Amino acid sequence: MDLETMYQSLGVSSQVLDFAKKIEDTLKDRFEAIDSRAEYNQLKVVKAMQECRVSDIHFAATTGYGYNDLGRDTLEDVFARVFQTESALVRPQLISGTHALHIALSGNLRPGDELLSPNGKPYDTLEEVIGIRESVGSLKEYGVSYRQVDLLPDGTFDFENIARAVNEKTKVMTIQRSKGYASRPTFSVEQIGELIVFVKKIKPDLICMVDNCYGEFVETLEPTQVGADMAVGSLIKNPGGGLAPIGGYIVGRKECVDRASFRLSAPGLGREVGASLGLNQSFYQGLFLSPTVVAGALKGAIFAANIYEKLGFSVVPDGREERHDIIQSVTFGTPEGVIAFCQGIQAAAPVDSFVTPEPWDMPGYDAPVIMAAGAFVQGSSIELSADAPIKPPYAVYFQGGLTWYHAKLGVLMSLQKLIEAGVCSLKIL
Ligand SMILES: *Cc1c(COP(=O)(O)O)cnc(C)c1O
Repeated sequence: MDLETMYQSLGVSSQVLDFAKKIEDTLKDRFEAIDSRAEYNQLKVVKAMQECRVSDIHFAATTGYGYNDLGRDTLEDVFARVFQTESALVRPQLISGTHALHIALSGNLRPGDELLSPNGKPYDTLEEVIGIRESVGSLKEYGVSYRQVDLLPDGTFDFENIARAVNEKTKVMTIQRSKGYASRPTFSVEQIGELIVFVKKIKPDLICMVDNCYGEFVETLEPTQVGADMAVGSLIKNPGGGLAPIGGYIVGRKECVDRASFRLSAPGLGREVGASLGLNQSFYQGLFLSPTVVAGALKGAIFAANIYEKLGFSVVPDGREERHDIIQSVTFGTPEGVIAFCQGIQAAAPVDSFVTPEPWDMPGYDAPVIMAAGAFVQGSSIELSADAPIKPPYAVYFQGGLTWYHAKLGVLMSLQKLIEAGVCSLKIL
């Protein structure tokens, strides 16, 4: 069977394949640039592991309290070196990105303090963490106030109003690197650095935290290298490389990470406890693979952007823009478009390819959400996945792919399903 017949046997028509081939041929230079960034980041990770003398013994499991978990402590040292920070907390007990962000925020904020978001409304699940939407146990219930400054119409920081918003109560600024479910651009590490320098001039002791979800290894610098006091993310996104089955990380200045650790376990216990339960090898190996996995995901995102842009849909980022995270949004304008796209992604999966995703009311989100994920790890979005809140403008957020070839198959299948559903046609070209 040749390659084309192989694609056809998976359900991709030769019409879709021909169209996609023309697009792929225009992307060679971009893919090369992605590969050279991955090469740099691969060396960065290997260097950190060598410096920490990572060895077989670090993969051993601990149980119970997890005192003296050498593998866990060394892994945290590796993360600290990769992100160039004093300290790191990398734990399976951090159960998701939202949890890690909650721990970092609640560990570092006290009653009477104020939290500032310089990028407008934060990621959906943080609304309940902060108390923007009423919720039991929010920071608001603990007497932490919140203020946000919206972005300027061009998607950049509103420095003037940020300067005005910083006051004697402002303790933490939380910067969200990736756009999440918003249609603004994602910030580059350089832009984040400029903002941090700016606010530190106004208030030097302001803790600058970056929600780093989906941004790790997309650039060769991380936000902690341009002044962030903390960066936080999920191990079932970029830095877990698809192998981590659970977990989150908080890297940063020692006192900030320590305060988070006292919140994660208990005051007095901090980072000294927390068994790694045999997960260390997956964490190390996932981090090791992460730079190349992220490169594959980026190629998939750029491929999708160029295909759907060509078909007349609005895409963020556009087909030519520099990338700062792995997320691609495509606005279809109708629920049918969003649903067909997600069904195509699902149909390309190695796991659960036979199920048909439907919208549902997911905890933490304010509209029904449709999710396509045929993942080895439940909910993993470094694996090929797509999700969309079923509300205007009916945009789908597409990300991941453990390999470029799988990401490519996903994009081809999505296009196939859209054509079959009558949402778009290749004839208009
Ligand atoms: C995914 C994500 C989160 C939340 O992470 P979960 O692991 O889904 O809880 C927070 N912020 C951003 C920008 C994200 O992309």
